[in-house]
Amino acid sequence: MSRDQRVEDNWALLFARKIAFEADVPVFVVFCLVDRFLGATRRKYEFMLRGLQEVEATLARKKIPFFFLRGDPEEEIPNFIEKYEIGTLVTDFSPLRIKRTWTEKVASGIKVPFFEADAHNVVPCWEASKKQEYAAHTFRPKLLRLLPEFLTEYPELEANTEFPEIAASSGKSETFSEVQKNGIGTLIPGEFLEEKTGFLPDIALFEAGETAARKIMDEFLTNKLDSYSTLRNDPTKDALSNLSPYLHFGQVSAQRVALEVEKTKADLESKRVFLDELLVRKELADNFCYYNPFYDSFDGFPEWAKKTLNSHRHDQRSHIFTLEELETGRTYDPLWNASQIELLRRGKMHSYMRMYWAKKILEWSESPEKALETAIYLNDKYELDGRDPNGYAGIAWSIGGAHDRAWQEREIFGKIRYMSYEGSKRKFDVKLYIAKYSAL
Ligand SMILES: Cc1cc2nc3c(=O)[nH]c(=O)nc-3n(C[C@H](O)[C@H](O)[C@H](O)COP(=O)(O)OP(=O)(O)OC[C@H]3O[C@@H](n4cnc5c(N)ncnc54)[C@H](O)[C@@H]3O)c2cc1C
Repeated sequence: MSRDQRVEDNWALLFARKIAFEADVPVFVVFCLVDRFLGATRRKYEFMLRGLQEVEATLARKKIPFFFLRGDPEEEIPNFIEKYEIGTLVTDFSPLRIKRTWTEKVASGIKVPFFEADAHNVVPCWEASKKQEYAAHTFRPKLLRLLPEFLTEYPELEANTEFPEIAASSGKSETFSEVQKNGIGTLIPGEFLEEKTGFLPDIALFEAGETAARKIMDEFLTNKLDSYSTLRNDPTKDALSNLSPYLHFGQVSAQRVALEVEKTKADLESKRVFLDELLVRKELADNFCYYNPFYDSFDGFPEWAKKTLNSHRHDQRSHIFTLEELETGRTYDPLWNASQIELLRRGKMHSYMRMYWAKKILEWSESPEKALETAIYLNDKYELDGRDPNGYAGIAWSIGGAHDRAWQEREIFGKIRYMSYEGSKRKFDVKLYIAKYSAL
């Protein structure tokens, strides 16, 4: 279990349980904690570990032991397989370089059958399209065509697929409850322990885990979905689902959310728009990272975007802000500063502001490469949903025209779509948003 950290609605776990059931052997779930995962911070470790506590408890009710390893998966997993004489290994899927490297290295270090199941996307990434898609409009028809086959209810496992309790002696020291007996804090790498996220205390941390995710989903379906199409671009309103941290850590399945949305009687346009984000945009981001080895660098931008950014590389910048000025929200633009404070304090910036935020970083950096590096660094460090294909695709869209088209040419941006303070003023009450976050 790696990207999809949940017990319910999990294709990788369902598949593993089926294999184990047919072979009449127990199934184990193994999670390997890696220190310093892509610059993750305390807030994220905590969110993830609390979610894993619930995973362990839920698995225990199903009599499935949960083993918790620490270190490099490429060493820990083959050792575990040897120690427990594991017959078959199943893992979930991520298009990100780091997980693909682990998977490849684990594969070369073991002799047992090894399967990868895409438990994150509704349509498995490699089935949805065989190539990198140009934009949402080229990907959408392919995905929609396959949805009837894949957007189905999860199978119920029969009661007799419960497994006998395995001998308590085997590897007790590696179970999660044993490892965390001194508290979750002991599992967070030391350097992050005293870290204050963004020099300011958190306002309200999202509650972690599958149960919390269900609650957030139900709240959204009951109270917010109806007005999603009209209010979603207004960052002064609480109109979004807030599901991204849960989707990112796999504490809820996008397929479950989509199935529940389909069942509601909410406004049809809102349902359509929301499902387009949850399915088309989200799965397009996986497509981008899966087929584009340069998903987090300038080389990964479309040709037209690289050309236009190159021809404006030497344009005069009115301001170049340092990383520290950006990180602490100290630019001349109160709207941008407010969005950075929202990120620091909530761990989740509104989606409209994310676009504005990243585009301004391009405007205020000495080069597009530097802008990309800064945006990825801040996004991955502070967004609870960061280090996600959605993040790399969203930043590449904002700074490098990925999945977008050419717009009217201007300084620095060239033909990359531009967003301005004045434009935002026409969309929502900018002063209200600034007041809300600068007051914090
Ligand atoms: C610069 C930039 C950086 C971003 N970084 C991240 C990131 O690190 N992690 C992340 O999950 N999303 C990222 N996004 C995409 C999007 O902004 C977030 O998914 C969204 O704000 C999450 O809030 P929500 O779940 O309340 O959204 P909702 O509007 O309720 O959407 C529901 C779900 O649909 C998916 N979704 C919505 N918008 C997008 C989108 N534009 N692209 C892909 N999927 C989408 C997400 O899975 C989201 O959780 C980024 C976008 C931009 C422009």
